Amino acid sequence: MPFAPRTGPTRRNFLHGAAAGVAAAAFTRATFGQAQSRDDAVTAAAQAGKKVRFAVMGLGQLGLGQIIPAFQHAKVAQLTALVSGHPDKAKSTAEKYGVDPKNIYNYDNFDKVKDNDQIDVVYVVLPNNMHSDFVVRAANAGKHVMCEKPFDVTPEKCQTAIDACKKNNRKLQVGYRLMYEPNNLALVDAVKQKAIGELKMLECGAGFSIGDPRTTPSAAWRLTKAMAGGGCLMDIGIYSLSAARYITQEEPTEVQAMTFANRSDIRFKEVEEHCNFQLRFPSGVLASCTSSYSCGMNRFHAIGTRSWAECDPALSYNGVKFRINRGGNHVEEPDLGDPNQFATEMDAFCQCILENKQPKASGETALQDVKIMRAIYQAAETGKTVGLTSA
Ligand code: NAD
Repeated sequence: MPFAPRTGPTRRNFLHGAAAGVAAAAFTRATFGQAQSRDDAVTAAAQAGKKVRFAVMGLGQLGLGQIIPAFQHAKVAQLTALVSGHPDKAKSTAEKYGVDPKNIYNYDNFDKVKDNDQIDVVYVVLPNNMHSDFVVRAANAGKHVMCEKPFDVTPEKCQTAIDACKKNNRKLQVGYRLMYEPNNLALVDAVKQKAIGELKMLECGAGFSIGDPRTTPSAAWRLTKAMAGGGCLMDIGIYSLSAARYITQEEPTEVQAMTFANRSDIRFKEVEEHCNFQLRFPSGVLASCTSSYSCGMNRFHAIGTRSWAECDPALSYNGVKFRINRGGNHVEEPDLGDPNQFATEMDAFCQCILENKQPKASGETALQDVKIMRAIYQAAETGKTVGLTSA
């Protein structure tokens, strides 16, 4: 399906973007030391025959469509178990992907995973407000945990999940796939190396057109405030926020925001349709971030004193593209590869488990996003600038 970055994409064609590769390679794969050394470590673990075994919880759009198929691209992560409320779906998925039927659980008997030594990690892929409860149950069952973004709907629930993982000495990683994506890492690196001069401004946009809640189960809970925690900000605007934080490598100190919802649209009875916010960073960088459930946006654009660099598309499941202008008219668009993003982030988590390291997409950084999103809503409701404290 062609990528449609600006006009009315659905979630599906938005996320499955693809862009043609153009060469010009001052930036090469080897430029990105962090990604390279991680790849080397994962390869070494795989060569040593190490496997980290996953139970995937939640066989919805993301679980079935992206995460489970991604295991075939993973070097160390291996699918060995499923957790689902739908026995038939779990059975057919297990057959398709070679999962032993005795490793199928439901939400009621899930705690029994503690007796199953074929599971090292539980990956929680449920509606937002269910995340922390299952992170806690997985950690209490002695399993490491991956959890989808957003971490949960309140900072308090996120903190409970972090505490449970700490108490049980279990690792926790939140599903920020772009923190491991080579083109996004190139943008971070370009800013860090001052390849565009001093970073001054960021424009981060993320949006897609959400489906009808009456006919689309994955839209129904997303458009229910109690389950999603909010609207487009919690679901897709989180990418704009997270990018502003990882590109600047700073924590914002203040936020201003506005939201809009067309309440006569069946989709936006409870949650916002658009959420735009401005972040101030300690260095003086200002980030203008946009998010929408009715407009297509898919770009992180960094502006420096000399020139600019960007990812566009920035957050699709594949075909993400980094571009840089170092001054003048020439734009470089190096081919940085397009590895499966879910396999990459799962293998990165496996590496943390095998080497006893703290994941980059940690519970703490995910908690900070949830705190900032609450402040964004407060700023939008009051019309006032809201001050932020870091972690
Ligand atoms: P989905 O609605 O397609 O799937 C949700 C799953 O949860 C389904 O299997 C459903 O049966 C199950 N579930 C259990 N109890 C439920 C309940 N009470 N109500 C509704 N569903 C229930 O949603 P999804 O698109 O797969 O999203 C799941 C999570 O993954 C969300 O937190 C979302 O933010 C996140 N996500 C992340 C990315 C990413 O790129 N990292 C992309 C999409 C979704």
